[in-house]
Amino acid sequence: MPDIAVYPGSFDPITNGHMDLIQRGLKIFDRIIVAVAKNPVKKSLFSTEERMEMLRVSLKDYSQVTIDSFEGLLVAYAKGQNARAILRGLRAVTDFEYEFQLAMMNRRLEPEIETVFLMTGLRWVFLSSSILKEAAIHGGNIEGMVPEIVYAKLKEKFGLR
Ligand code: ADP
Repeated sequence: MPDIAVYPGSFDPITNGHMDLIQRGLKIFDRIIVAVAKNPVKKSLFSTEERMEMLRVSLKDYSQVTIDSFEGLLVAYAKGQNARAILRGLRAVTDFEYEFQLAMMNRRLEPEIETVFLMTGLRWVFLSSSILKEAAIHGGNIEGMVPEIVYAKLKEKFGLR
């Protein structure tokens, strides 16, 4: 059986921080399923389909990575994919409390699936999709922080400097 991990998130949009984490994850798992959470409550800049398309293009060279989306309970989705683990990233201290709560809840709901945390590369420790969007919306140049396709999309939307 291949070791499969589900890497869930909003990916609104994917950043180099996410890319870094996926590359690290591939050293541990045979396959990673990057799963876009369809959350009707959370307001997103890009539609689910747009987010998935940016993920597909950014990760096209990684044959062990597949792109999917899911609704509802993450652990139920992960189990359905035969995943052994949920992959999450940790940045500076701020991520810890929320990620800890989430991991504990998921363990309670599905004890068979472990949450694995990886630390991003130092360059991306302070990079988040929300800060990135904030900068791009106001015309800030975010080149080098996101894959090419995301840069192009943001430029098209906001005409970056
Ligand atoms: P969510 O809405 O689930 O937090 P995100 O797309 O923001 O979705 O993040 C998905 C996962 O990737 C989370 O575990 C988050 O901590 C992690 N992540 C996001 N950006 C980075 C980064 N720069 N470095 C490390 N992990 C990151």
